[in-house]
Amino acid sequence: MGVTRIKHPSHGQHYLLLKLPQEPYWCNGCMGLGFGPCYECEHEACGFYLHEECANAAPSTSHPFSKCSLKFHYNAPQGDERYCDACGEDVSGFVYQCSHKHPHDYHPRCLKLPRTLRAGDGLILQLRKELPSKCLRCGTRKTSNKIQGWCYVSSPDQYCYHIACVKDMILEKWREGYFSQYGDVNDANNLALQTFSESREIALPGGRRSSKATQIWRKAATVIMVIISALFGEPSALISVLVQYWLSS
Ligand SMILES: [Zn+2]
Ligand SMILES: [Zn+2]
Ligand SMILES: [Zn+2]
Ligand SMILES: [Zn+2]
Ligand SMILES: [Zn+2]
Repeated sequence: MGVTRIKHPSHGQHYLLLKLPQEPYWCNGCMGLGFGPCYECEHEACGFYLHEECANAAPSTSHPFSKCSLKFHYNAPQGDERYCDACGEDVSGFVYQCSHKHPHDYHPRCLKLPRTLRAGDGLILQLRKELPSKCLRCGTRKTSNKIQGWCYVSSPDQYCYHIACVKDMILEKWREGYFSQYGDVNDANNLALQTFSESREIALPGGRRSSKATQIWRKAATVIMVIISALFGEPSALISVLVQYWLSS
């Protein structure tokens, strides 16, 4: 298999190689977390990474959910404290912004989110601009920073999650150091078992769990896993083990 090697204006001094890192990384373009294939500087000491979508961002684009014509910028030209209108996370690097007075902002990765996802057992999730029902994570239709935010929803709309809420779940785990211990699957398993008891945090509302509730919850965990892969990239086997342990109960 040939190696994909590129030069990117944001890191013009070295070549970048397309790789599947074993560890999560922070994209030096959009400043977001990533799990999947990415461009990494061939000088490892640089620790420079770009999401594929960030490295290959076109100068302008559009999206069916937005009426705006969107231009790519290395930094948002308008305003500080910008939020992505898709995922609600802040925008502090590569961004698509429109020229409206109150501009819309999107991460390059968010504009490339698949419109449909398969979550197994024939369950299909659709990317939607508006929530048809309350998000199972936050219980509301708006995200915490008042961004309407996009969601993935199953049909019938039993499973509905803001992409903002699923992103928050992973970023919270990151801040707790959950992904910082890797390299050894046994370590990963031990760590996952330690946090086993916390996994209730994504339980469906309703308290006591009947076997039916457990079944629904298992499916919800599968749905969340599929959304995580869409948001952050297909995780390596090790990260996948960590996330699945955390989601299991
Ligand atoms: Zn990025
Ligand atoms: Zn470099
Ligand atoms: Zn706009
Ligand atoms: Zn976003
Ligand atoms: Zn939510």
